[in-house]
Amino acid sequence: MKKTISLMITTGLLTGSVAEVYNKNSDPFKWQVDRFDDVKVLRYQVPDFDSLKTEQKILIYYLSQAALCGRDILYDQNFKYNLPIRRTFEAVYKYYDGDRSNDEFKVVEKYLKKIWFANGIHHHYSMDKFVPEFSEEYFELLVNSIPKDKLPLDFGKKDELLAAIKPAIFDPELYSKRVCLDPDKDMIVNSAMNYYEEGITQKEVEEFYCDMVKPDDHTPVSYGLNSRLVKEDGELKERVWKLCGLYSQAIDKILFWLNKALPYAENDMQKAALQELISYYKSGDLKTFDDYSVTWVKDTLSQVDFVNGFIETYGDPLGYKASWESIVNFKNIEATKRTEIISEWAQWFEDNSPIDDKFKKKEVRGVSAKVITVATLGGDCFPPTPIGINLPNSDWIRRDHGSKSVTIENITHAYSEAAKGDGFAEEFVLRAEDRERMEKYGSLADNLHTDLHECLGHGSGILGPGVKGDELKNYGSTLEEARADLFALYYLADPKMVEIGLIPNLDVAKAEYAKYMMNGLMTQLTRIQPGINVEESHMRNRKLIAEWCYERGHAENVVEKIVQDGKTYVVVNDFDKLRILFGELLREVQRIKSEGDFGAGKSLVENYGVKVDPVLHNEVLERYARLDLAPYSGFINPILHPVYGDDGKLIDVEIEYPDNFTKQMLWYSEDYSYLPSKN
Ligand code: ZN
Repeated sequence: MKKTISLMITTGLLTGSVAEVYNKNSDPFKWQVDRFDDVKVLRYQVPDFDSLKTEQKILIYYLSQAALCGRDILYDQNFKYNLPIRRTFEAVYKYYDGDRSNDEFKVVEKYLKKIWFANGIHHHYSMDKFVPEFSEEYFELLVNSIPKDKLPLDFGKKDELLAAIKPAIFDPELYSKRVCLDPDKDMIVNSAMNYYEEGITQKEVEEFYCDMVKPDDHTPVSYGLNSRLVKEDGELKERVWKLCGLYSQAIDKILFWLNKALPYAENDMQKAALQELISYYKSGDLKTFDDYSVTWVKDTLSQVDFVNGFIETYGDPLGYKASWESIVNFKNIEATKRTEIISEWAQWFEDNSPIDDKFKKKEVRGVSAKVITVATLGGDCFPPTPIGINLPNSDWIRRDHGSKSVTIENITHAYSEAAKGDGFAEEFVLRAEDRERMEKYGSLADNLHTDLHECLGHGSGILGPGVKGDELKNYGSTLEEARADLFALYYLADPKMVEIGLIPNLDVAKAEYAKYMMNGLMTQLTRIQPGINVEESHMRNRKLIAEWCYERGHAENVVEKIVQDGKTYVVVNDFDKLRILFGELLREVQRIKSEGDFGAGKSLVENYGVKVDPVLHNEVLERYARLDLAPYSGFINPILHPVYGDDGKLIDVEIEYPDNFTKQMLWYSEDYSYLPSKN
């Protein structure tokens, strides 16, 4: 649920078939704009922006301004010295007039880019503190050479500033992890995030919030979601993020733009949602936040939509506190037809599934999902960006009012376009015909796989009598992902898909089958360190499916491992038989779930999903390293230019695609930076 993060490290194969929608200009679009460390920075297009109504474009413009105003909040949430550190390095970058061409200055520049990308001095994914590749002496030389008044002295005198940030940057023992998830440690004390004042222990936090939850409250607010916990005179207190509270200066600006957006709301429901959000930012009242979330979920008619607030709790090891984020988007009406067709045919898919009749759902409720185009990303969605979102997070709101599930297709499209020609397919796909099919249909196949997996796969089937659903324990999530994947794989090659217009022909399925088997048997190992087995449940599921089908089809050579010039390749020889195998495994996995057969589930996962062949693993890692691909990607935003009429009224919005990461980051730090260095 929640946020789906792309792990498209190995998917140089997700190549586009929807290119014609995007590439209206004759010049080839430059997708990648920067590359440093383990990161590449891309940009995305906003197709069809110009065909929106003027009011919609203006609404997007105002919401986008609001999306940029909370950037500093996230920096401060991630670590208490992130803002003074970022500002010190930005001052050096802008005002140092010594030699900038030497290697030492270059690594300082790289360090600053890494801060911008991660919204702080800890890696956005591993959470480890960055190791500076320059010396403390050189850093001091740089700082001392620029005019003193360019430094963030709102933090304190220059000595005080350096005394605080130098150990934070250079001492590897200090603040070494942003989020510590080691259950054997005090996860609060050992995390550098700024949601709890230093010195507060995990036990104190747990007791503080434990007391708040009333057991008979069936619609509880998300306690602790929008505050920092501090200790005053020995007593724990919440400093709430709201107007006239903590982060007030940034929230004031967010409110300014939300108020501007209000008259352009597309309908009364959206207007009500915006009003509730505004009132929540003013009061900090979490009950109002829930009201807002309910209204926001109910608004399914607006084409323009947005997320703006304290939403996801990944940054807090205990999951109470939410980071600030924003996404401004509009529905991709054409692509959403795809999810609508799938929902319409949901009952047919269920009735014709290869699972035992007694485990089939008699009445399938269509699942609503839409495909969106983002226009601006902010806070914790930027520069690293999700490819799908499912909100709100509140359990009772999901239970009583449902949720919105979205696929962000202009982002997945940018990923696949940027991966074109990176050499991955040439290295790992043996047959030209497979490469061509992947090139042509990879994107469509991937999007459909996700739609079928999310909209239908997880929701299909029923439990047998007396089965509660938690019988599979630690194997449950792997088997559940396998069930959803198998549902998608099985139906992708069904002639029905062509009949109802979801795919032009079955080559789409062949592209997905070849890629899935290669990934599951081999290339997903690029994400695993040598000597380690497969642990993550999505990866276990893919391995399980691929290994099981490989073994079952061995006698008939359905899937083959071919070694050529010392390189191993996975090749599908018989796509029809492979589909039958997917169906057989789906039937078995459904039986395991419906009957709660722990023993059978365990042996499936342990036998097929876990153990790594070290020789093949080594080979894959070596081949991948030689390609020199960056495993992580993020984005810069397009620029939305307001167009004013003679009377000074906003009459239109124009879009521009900049191509300089540093420029955008410096601009945001200049024009959208509202918080003091110490909060
Ligand atoms: Zn899933």
